[in-house]
Amino acid sequence: KTLLQLQSLNKQYGNDEPAIKDIDLILPQGQVLALIGPSGAGKSTLIRCINRLVEPTSGKVWLDNQEVTGLSKNSLRRVRRKMGMIFQEYALVERLTVMENVLSGQLGYVGFWQSWLRRFPQATIEEAFRLLDRVGLSQFPDQRADALSGGQRQRVGIARALLQNPDLLLVDEPTASLDPKTARQIMRLITELAQERGLGVILNIHDVQLAQRFAQRIVGLNQGSIVYDGSPNGLDANT
Ligand code: ADP
Ligand code: ADP
Repeated sequence: KTLLQLQSLNKQYGNDEPAIKDIDLILPQGQVLALIGPSGAGKSTLIRCINRLVEPTSGKVWLDNQEVTGLSKNSLRRVRRKMGMIFQEYALVERLTVMENVLSGQLGYVGFWQSWLRRFPQATIEEAFRLLDRVGLSQFPDQRADALSGGQRQRVGIARALLQNPDLLLVDEPTASLDPKTARQIMRLITELAQERGLGVILNIHDVQLAQRFAQRIVGLNQGSIVYDGSPNGLDANT
């Protein structure tokens, strides 16, 4: 079953050369796809066009048979909840705790801890604790984000994205700021969680070996075009 479909997707910033050109792609449910390619190839742009953090210049995006391009801002917010986003730089709120950051994906509002917690259904808070446990942070719900290591911060980002109960994870360079061992642990965690929950994943990563080890499918981008689409093993023969 198709989860995500991109049709003739283009993005041109100003009068520059297009950052992505006529991208056609179908992602089945539950597939982990790694986007690889040199810096400037268009990987970030492609990922950001999917949830319209970047507005495509032309082309279409469908998620769960719903067209994402062309949605009004209000409807877009609803559809974006189905797309969990995990960033390179974690994008945590430094002065908030681990638990507050995990919950912060649920509401724009950030305020005093007690009054804020009460705004969440008990089931949401229980699920947040379960997720913290699953990502290995059950000891740290009250730790401030600015006291965490890089790997711990990325685990918070993963829990926050999953609390939305998304169908698709959009992951932009999740390991770029991590040491190799932590990078492998984070990749393992993301791909295991995706498998457990049957999520599709599009993951932008410049470490080809990590991509080959953890993704089921590799898409290579160069100058905005797809130059490889196939199995992780086939990549070796191709290069
Ligand atoms: P990658 O993620 O593969 O490094 P990017 O999508 O970041 O590639 O960039 C693709 C091209 O688009 C690059 O030439 C980059 O300079 C350009 N680009 C990316 N973001 C912007 C932006 N906000 N404004 C103008 N140009 C941009
Ligand atoms: P990446 O690691 O994806 O290549 P970059 O370091 O190229 O990211 O870009 C970081 C930020 O700067 C992104 O938000 C991107 O959209 C923006 N950006 C990249 N290239 C340009 C550009 N030529 N003009 C304006 N903004 C850019």
